[in-house]
Amino acid sequence: MVQVYPVPAFKDNYLWVAADGPRAAVVDPGDSEPIERFLAQERLELTAILATHHHGDHVGGLKALAAHWKCPVFGPANEAIEGIGTRLGEGDRIRVPGLDLALGVLDVPGHTSGHIAYVHSGDDPLVFCGDTLFACGCGRLFEGSPAQMSDSLAKLARLPDATRVYCAHEYTLANIRFAEAVEPGNARDSAKRARGEPTVPSSIGEERATNPFLRCSEPEVIASAERHAGRRLDGPVEVFAEIRAWKNTF
Ligand SMILES: [Zn+2]
Repeated sequence: MVQVYPVPAFKDNYLWVAADGPRAAVVDPGDSEPIERFLAQERLELTAILATHHHGDHVGGLKALAAHWKCPVFGPANEAIEGIGTRLGEGDRIRVPGLDLALGVLDVPGHTSGHIAYVHSGDDPLVFCGDTLFACGCGRLFEGSPAQMSDSLAKLARLPDATRVYCAHEYTLANIRFAEAVEPGNARDSAKRARGEPTVPSSIGEERATNPFLRCSEPEVIASAERHAGRRLDGPVEVFAEIRAWKNTF
């Protein structure tokens, strides 16, 4: 049985450790030290490293961990990340070395141009989605277009409702405040984070119900986006582009 643990790092990152008995894989190790501390504390052996995209807060600890544990490293085919042994893209499937965990790969460009997500389907489905989908929000568009990002989010939204969403940042409270501005009355519970608890993982079902970036065809989201834009918007991609730009200055 695979258990997934958040290892907090930097200001608001979660580095995810998936453990199966005494062996573990890490997803997006932005820093090696908190991972080494966690592995030592839980007496785990690192048997795989996975990366979703090239940003430093996701791969900064990759080389040190790979050097120490001499384990395989997986990452996106279309990004320049030093130390990746197996380059992955849409449709690839891997069995995580050391763990009873099969993952499929989705290309989810937008935040970066080669960003990938790792999906486990079947019983107990989950997705490691890096900086593409957040609880009640989505990543900034550093390298991709609104059309690409909205396609990527739609791909994630098609996963089963029960899919647990392991995103890479604790942005949820700010995201909920923004969602309330876009869709008043469709708020989600913010009490957990107010108590200092992680609000992630959420689920695809919860995201589809409350994440405005997945709801660009909903009348209230369209109306708010058009009010903010001061003009009529032509379709869900324009609505997405408007609320993504609005969020940047919210
Ligand atoms: Zn990023």
